[in-house]
Amino acid sequence: MPHNTKYVFVTGGVTSSLGKGIISASLAKLLQSRGYSVTIQKLDPYINVDPGTLNPYEHGECYVTEDGAETDLDLGHYERFINLPTTQANNVTTGRIYQSVINKERKGEYLGKTVQVIPHITDEIKGRIKLLGTKHKYDVVITEIGGTVGDIESLPYIESVRQLKWDLGPTNSVFIHLTLVPYLAASGELKTKPTQHSVKVLLENGIQPDVLVLRTEKTLNDDLRRKVALFCNVEPEAVVESIDVKTIYEVPLLMLKEKLDLTVLKKLNLPAGNEPDLVSWNQFISKLKNPKSTIKVGLIGKYVELPDAYKSIVESVIHAGASNECKVELLTIHSETINDSNLEEKLGGLKGIIVAPGFGHRGIEGKISSAKYAREKGIPFLGICLGMQCAVIEFARNVLGLSDANSTEMARNTLNPVIDLMETQKGIIDKGGTMRLGAYNCTIKKGTKAAQAYHKTDIQERHRHRYEFNNAYLEQFEKNGMISTGINPDTNLVEIIEIPKHPWFVGVQFHPEYKSSVVNPHPLFVNFVKAALEFSK
Ligand code: GLN
Repeated sequence: MPHNTKYVFVTGGVTSSLGKGIISASLAKLLQSRGYSVTIQKLDPYINVDPGTLNPYEHGECYVTEDGAETDLDLGHYERFINLPTTQANNVTTGRIYQSVINKERKGEYLGKTVQVIPHITDEIKGRIKLLGTKHKYDVVITEIGGTVGDIESLPYIESVRQLKWDLGPTNSVFIHLTLVPYLAASGELKTKPTQHSVKVLLENGIQPDVLVLRTEKTLNDDLRRKVALFCNVEPEAVVESIDVKTIYEVPLLMLKEKLDLTVLKKLNLPAGNEPDLVSWNQFISKLKNPKSTIKVGLIGKYVELPDAYKSIVESVIHAGASNECKVELLTIHSETINDSNLEEKLGGLKGIIVAPGFGHRGIEGKISSAKYAREKGIPFLGICLGMQCAVIEFARNVLGLSDANSTEMARNTLNPVIDLMETQKGIIDKGGTMRLGAYNCTIKKGTKAAQAYHKTDIQERHRHRYEFNNAYLEQFEKNGMISTGINPDTNLVEIIEIPKHPWFVGVQFHPEYKSSVVNPHPLFVNFVKAALEFSK
């Protein structure tokens, strides 16, 4: 019998940023905890082929998958909630759809037909949605459509899922629509009209939502739920409240209380499955809410105005804090405001310092100074990608005495290129998807901080960079106290550096933050927070 994958489509209305990603991830978590295999996909209506070329100020962090796709940050939420890797196929953009249709057209695959939005673009979109079901045989695929209904850009996606409902047949798909019920303080009322209008827009596009998730600041009473159900043509139990909560990790528990999972399963004609197993999730929440201590950690970056720019790092620190039963106040500090003469003022009192990834020379000197402060004061330090490169530059300048040491990314003609363009990157001109991306092997030296953290010596971590540690300098570094403790076994590329004499000084060329989840907090973050806690005593 062919595998029968069921599909859940999640749209949003009224405003953006209502948390479709978190609702999708929460539903996935609940279905998974009832024994179903689930994945989540994000359809992004913008024309970039992927968010890899987007400035973080535009669209927040670019999340990288195991298979090296540069994707939307919502995929990070999906992985953190369901603890399963996503792939290139889990993020589809308009740019990618058009690119593929145009390539097919150039190859003559449309046999002389006029290529149009319907059916060619919509067929391509439908193919991408179904691929996850047919190829990977999930029980349920949850597809989140980015943007807000009514946007011109998302129309082809809405049309595609409208068609899919009929292609798939009855009880094989469910439409969830997320809206906002605003509270008007002046009249002391919650208002349902924006929801009614939003559903009307969906109806105009041929879609009757099956479930409405209403984002609200105040509890919805039964009358309001009945009213929404009546005006929007849904069953009263399919009106789900999503009230504001302190942490996104409570949303699955809220959705469980609201029976979102059971409502969806019933509409898909699937059995309720096991009683949800949320033991480790609940343990995490309880540790998160009852910390035994509080410490301040600094995140030194240059995109600090937009918290989403460092989403995965922020979440990894939350996971690691909970695992250490400690509340970590993560202070994001703008690297452009830091220099050698104000280190005490800017960084004094921090129990740990993380230097963030990044590109280009803006703010780089502040990151280098921060690494110096952490090294000299014995403050636990975690340098991630560019952060690791800054620690290397700092060590070269101030310990090895190579005063002009730099990365060739910042100073092309430096006499001491301690960080240099990777051989494989030389000659690459295109920017999109051309970095060293995705998971690579790393072998860790025994007896190091990294080995202590991972409890093993063979690991795989995800990458997103063009520059690397210049091995011509390795001997000089190691003789003077900064050693390479993790290398790529195939290329000898330095993946981890440490200062063994320092209480906890670790720089990584990869991005551990992409692999931290609620159930599996990342060992490097856990050990970094542990070291910060010890430093605070
Ligand atoms: N800009 C650096 C490089 O390309 C670091 C990249 C990063 O921090 N992700 O190597």
